[in-house]
Amino acid sequence: MKIANHTVVEIHYTLKDADGTVIDSSANGEPLKYLQGVGNIIPGLEREMLEKAPGDKFTAVIAPEDGYGQQNPELIQTMPRSAFGGVEDLEVGMAFRAESTDGHPIEVEIIDIDGDEVTINGNHPLAGVELHFDIEVVSVREASAEEIDHGHVH
Ligand SMILES: [Zn+2]
Repeated sequence: MKIANHTVVEIHYTLKDADGTVIDSSANGEPLKYLQGVGNIIPGLEREMLEKAPGDKFTAVIAPEDGYGQQNPELIQTMPRSAFGGVEDLEVGMAFRAESTDGHPIEVEIIDIDGDEVTINGNHPLAGVELHFDIEVVSVREASAEEIDHGHVH
């Protein structure tokens, strides 16, 4: 059957950036399983999946707006080292859990340290990145009523 809303889809995928660097891949593991049409995967890829069938292989290029969004400059902030009270040996690349201004948890990463000033970035690591997916459709089946109700695959 073809992929339509409320089908359960298994895919193998390799995700690369515009330079061809591999960011993520299911190639050495289980295929990714998701419920189509409820936002389990990024909107641009979900749209590309419609009407595909098992055995189909294709490449999808997804703009940041249809992926993880653009970098939001407001999520890049510089603060004094003392704001990290208790954490020693701050280094570029360290990640912390924090709370966004609207109260949900986000991950922030230290992107620069200049003396007493520490710059953090709370954007998703793939924000602003054009996503190049190589997709192979493995299987497609109807979702159960319970899966549709829950919004995920069982
Ligand atoms: Zn459930």
